Amino acid sequence: MTNIILKKDKEQSLKRFHLWLFSGAIQSVEGDDPQDGDIVDVYNSSKEFLARGFCSLGSIAVRVLTFSKEEIDLSWWIGKINVAYQMRKALELTNNQTTTCYRLVHGEGDFLPGLVVDIYDKVAVIQAHCTGIYIARDTIAQAIKDVMQDKIEAVYDKSRGTMPSAAEMDVQDGFILGESNIEAVVKENNLKFNVNWHEGQKTGFFIDQRDNRELVKRYARGKRVLNTFCYTGGFSVYALEGGAKEVVSVDSSSKAIELSCKNVELNFNADAPHIGITIDAFDYLKDLENQKFDLIILDPPAFAKHQKAAQNALKGYKRINLNAIKNIAPGGILFTFSCSQAIDKEQFRNAVFSAAAIAGRKVRILHFLSQAEDHPVNIYHPESEYLKGLVVYVE
Ligand code: SAH
Repeated sequence: MTNIILKKDKEQSLKRFHLWLFSGAIQSVEGDDPQDGDIVDVYNSSKEFLARGFCSLGSIAVRVLTFSKEEIDLSWWIGKINVAYQMRKALELTNNQTTTCYRLVHGEGDFLPGLVVDIYDKVAVIQAHCTGIYIARDTIAQAIKDVMQDKIEAVYDKSRGTMPSAAEMDVQDGFILGESNIEAVVKENNLKFNVNWHEGQKTGFFIDQRDNRELVKRYARGKRVLNTFCYTGGFSVYALEGGAKEVVSVDSSSKAIELSCKNVELNFNADAPHIGITIDAFDYLKDLENQKFDLIILDPPAFAKHQKAAQNALKGYKRINLNAIKNIAPGGILFTFSCSQAIDKEQFRNAVFSAAAIAGRKVRILHFLSQAEDHPVNIYHPESEYLKGLVVYVE
């Protein structure tokens, strides 16, 4: 066992239940030399126990699992997964005929740092964002099965793209409990989506936009809709369901456009007013002048994964928002998002504000949007709030 001793007065954030210990707070290490992913204990400078968690080699030195001295074994994981499951049950997501995909575990948001679990019908897809979680994956899979019983047939591990040390550890994606197909048709608010967790981005689908898509549906009637960075076409399908006159889906990946068209076909007949275009959205948005879309969605990938990239990211947000606001039809509605953790709500709003001011149009905010409720924000760990959205009306 390894004990990590903090410098004097460096325990404040842990005392306030923040889940990351940064390496700068460490005074000394006692016991075995800790390896990436080992369980370690953290003490303050007076040797008072503070927390137990996974050791990481990086600026986040420990990801806290518990503030008690308890064994991290199968029954511990069952307890934690059960807490997460009970919450989703309270949200009416676990036995829902119209929505069959949801997030069961949202990492730090569920006090389980580094672990994401998404449910696609009868398959749980897990993603490890740190080595400790990856090492514990079989136990976690077993715990999910114990809690969910026959609601789950299989657990698929998709950690290759998210594990920092994936290459050294030869991380491969695949089923770690049970077997099933590598894709399924799931329902979200009664609309159908083909999800392929083996090939797809993240765990296959952007579940966090569920409620925001519903809002697009509400405003889409009779409108010409542009859905940029569309990925599998979630917003496009909802816009069509809401009665849009025409929907254009744009993504730089031809695979994403193919998936969007497939999802449109799954829900509507072949003459649905939808086209998919494979093009860089920055280029497409530059040339919008004669298009006059009434509703535009901007949902780009995280432009800033780290603080260092924040300034450039803000320029990117400003640029796409400027082109959208400048060219949207009078009385148009813009849905604009940022999922960059390194950019906060205020910075994002300022970027949209600058874009509006340069475009010289009258812009009013109608809604402040966030991630869906199965992606909870841990009040002690503000980093778990990452998706920010504004719906603005452009006069
Ligand atoms: N709105 C989507 C999720 C967006 S994910 C949903 O609701 O599911 C971000 C998408 O942006 C990815 O599909 C990625 O292929 C695409 N992308 C990344 N850079 C791009 C660019 N410069 N132009 C167009 N699309 C881009």
